[in-house]
Parts: sequence; C-alpha cells; structure tokens
Amino acid sequence: MLRKSVKNSKEDLRPDVLVVGAGLFGLTIAERLTRILGKHVLLIDQRNHIGGNCASENDSITGIECHKYGAHLFHTSLEHVWQYVNQFTKFTNYVHKVYTTHDGVVYPLPINLGTINQFFQAAYTPDEAKVKIAGQAASAPEHPQNLAEQGISLIGQPLFDAFIKNYTAKQWQTPAEELSPDIIKRLPVRYNYDNRYFNDTYEGLPVNGYNAWFQNMISQCGKNLSVRLETDYFTDPEIQELRESGILTIYTGPIDRFYDYRFGELKWRSLDFKKEVLDVDDFQGCPVMNYADLEPKYTRIHEFKHFHPERHTGGYAPNSSKTVIVREYSKTWHRGDEPYYPVNTAEDRAMLTKYQALASDDTNIIFGGRLGEYAYYDMDKTIAAALAKFDEIQNRV
Ligand code: FAD
Ligand code: UDP
Repeated sequence: MLRKSVKNSKEDLRPDVLVVGAGLFGLTIAERLTRILGKHVLLIDQRNHIGGNCASENDSITGIECHKYGAHLFHTSLEHVWQYVNQFTKFTNYVHKVYTTHDGVVYPLPINLGTINQFFQAAYTPDEAKVKIAGQAASAPEHPQNLAEQGISLIGQPLFDAFIKNYTAKQWQTPAEELSPDIIKRLPVRYNYDNRYFNDTYEGLPVNGYNAWFQNMISQCGKNLSVRLETDYFTDPEIQELRESGILTIYTGPIDRFYDYRFGELKWRSLDFKKEVLDVDDFQGCPVMNYADLEPKYTRIHEFKHFHPERHTGGYAPNSSKTVIVREYSKTWHRGDEPYYPVNTAEDRAMLTKYQALASDDTNIIFGGRLGEYAYYDMDKTIAAALAKFDEIQNRV
C-alpha cells in the first residue's frame, strides 16, 4: 500500500524539486526528474490517492473496477506518448463505442452514416449523406466562431438539434454561442458505418487497472521519490517551510487558487456521480449511454463491467449477476467542488492571461496540467505536455 510507504520525516522535506499534484502531469514529470536526472523529488497530493482524476477503485460488492472521477479511456496518436506509457502498463484491445438515446430511440455515436440513416429513416450512400448534410449546414458561417456554429457546420441543423444542442446545454449550462468551437471538434463525424468513438492510432485500457499503472510509475522512481498524500500545498505547515525556501516547484493545482483568486475565479463545470449496484447481469449492453434530451437530467450512464470483458470468462463480471452503473450529472462549480471541465469563455481567457502574466514572473514555480494551465487536456496530451515541460526545464534543475 502506497500510504504505508509514505515517509513523514523532515528528511523528506529537503528535496531538489517539489511536485504538487500526483495526477498524470505530476507523476510524469516526477518520474522524469528522478529517473533521468537522478533528482530527489517530493510529490504531494491533497487527496488520499495518486493518479488524480484518472484514479480508479474496485467496487466493494462486485469487484468491478470503477473510475472514480468519470470514465477514462486511453487513446493517442502520439507515438512518443504511446512508447512512454507502455513502460508502465500493458493495454487491452478495448475500443470505445458510445450510444445515445434521443426521443426514446438509441443511436450510435459519433455521428456516422448509421446515425444519419436511422435519424432520417433513409438508406443514403456516403455521397448522398454528404450532400444532404451540406444542405442542412448551409446556414453556418464558413469560419465558425463558437460551438453552435461549429456543430451546425459539421452536421447540419436537425442533427445538431437532436444530438448536440440539449446534451451541450445540460453539460455546460452556458449558451452554445459562448462556448469554444474546439469542444465539439473533439467528436469525429463519419460518412461510413465506423462507430469507434476515437480516431486515434492507439487505444486501450490498462490491463491491471489505472492504479497499477500509476503505482508502477512510482515504484520505478525508487528512493529518489517521496510521496505524501493528504497534504495540501497551501495549508500544510511543513510544505509552507519548503515554499519559503524558494524550492523549484511544479504546481498542477488551479492557477487562480495559487494567486488567491486575485483577478477572480476561472469558471469550471463540476460533476456529480450517482453510483448504484444493480441485481442484473447487464443494465444497458454497452459501456456508455448518452442521453441527448433535456430529460433525464443526467448526461450519461457508465456501466463499468463493459470496459473489461477480457477479465471475465464465460460472462462479464467477477459477480456476473450484478452490475455497477454510474449516472453523471453536470453542475456549476463552486469553491470546494471538484473542478472538471474549463468553461473557457472569452472572459475566462482574459482572466487566464492575467494569471499567466503573474506566473511568468514567478521563476521558481512551473504551472502544468489541466488545472495549472486551465486546459481541456486528454490523458495523452497531459503526458505530452509534461514530457515537453521536462525537456524545457531539465537544464535548470
Ligand atoms: P489531475 O488529474 O486533476 O491531477 C491534479 C492533482 O493535483 C489532483 O490529484 C489534485 O488533488 C492535486 N492538487 C490540486 N491542488 C492541490 C493542492 N493545493 N495541494 C496538493 N495537491 C493538489 N482523458 C482521456 O484521455 N480519456 C478520457 O476518457 C477522459 N475522460 C475524462 C472524463 C472526465 C469527467 C474528465 C474531467 C477528464 C477526462 N479526461 C480524459 C482527462 C484527464 O482526466 C486529464 O487529462 C488528466 O486527469 C489530467 O491530469 P493532471 O495531472 O493535469 O490533473
Ligand atoms: N456532445 C454532445 N452530445 C453527445 C456527446 C458530446 O453534444 O452525445 C458534445 C458536448 O458539448 C461535449 C462535447 O461534445 O461536451 C465533447 O464530448 P466528449 O464525449 O468528448 O466529452 P467528454 O467525454 O470529455 O465529457
């Protein structure tokens, strides 16, 4: 158990580098600093576990691995990231597929020829479907400036209204006209029947689970790495001493919190997860079912046993008469809630620029990760950013 191995002596507190946050950014940079440069790193996290938002835990009744902070699917086209992560875990051949329920009917996602033909009760060929959607997208500007314009330009008004408009309203509770077009560019649109959710070259889930992956990263760092959990950068007295010593710090917490919100709070979306163990073998027949309409209020249901069919012979789960489902509800973030998705309006971006200007004067503090950079990073992009940051700073450590 990691927590037992955590040292609390004063000796811990004389590292070369302090890393705040044991999520993927913090773990990656700590691993590089210890293993490549032989530096002594102290890695802290305010939570009682490593892995940040990618952490998982086995449900106590069924033994099914559940992702603690929402379903996490690893996918990347970045060759160097794929090589990097494979040092610490093998991946299954899981391929993510998502379905959505609209007006009482289930459709495949992302929007593909199957979705289009089912929605229009048609049998369009790829070329016919392209012509149809192009006609329905004609009202969108050539250079979309926001999520609504981007969505309509990609799939036309009727499909946008059915599958994107209300889901996005539930998810962001911000007018689609104020949201970045990048949010929707994440989703592919295909004029064939391929319903893989991601386009990436590599995809899979860690064979022995997320925690084994992250624990292995820590183990490979050996004695150069000390880890302290349940340790808040801002309130822990020993960390306070270390801060005052001017130690080089990689900080992966929220950037506005670092500066005591002096320019205001960056806006986030938070989530509520409502978990249930059910006495059925298979609740929904797929890992993730989205709900495209304003009712029900949740955006999606995750059924975790479907992420690892290879773990269960002749059935699905260790206890195959039961299943675990988690309903995901989006909510406005208030201080004390977990920050999940950066809302990233023009006002947020202007505020971020001010915080970043302060950060550029703080030469001993390096900001990174989704909270430190206020960025909607997938796991592979987080790792890539941490590897790039390591390359940038290695000569000054
Ligand atoms: P985090 O994982 O948030 O780690 C930051 C850590 O810093 C946290 O553990 C926090 O406790 C700690 N910390 C903050 N402040 C302090 C402090 N003051 N003192 C001490 N510790 C502190 N990516 C994918 O590739 N595929 C997916 O399917 C996917 N699904 C996602 C689903 C959801 C709901 C969300 C929100 C994100 C998803 N992501 C996914 C993105 C993925 O979660 C991130 O890329 C990744 O977690 C970023 O790692 P990080 O280290 O930057 O941040
Ligand atoms: N989205 C949507 N309908 C869906 C799925 C996604 O409108 O059924 C939009 C929504 O705005 C969402 C964005 O596309 O925030 C990105 O979707 P993705 O599934 O990548 O979101 P994540 O898994 O990061 O929450």
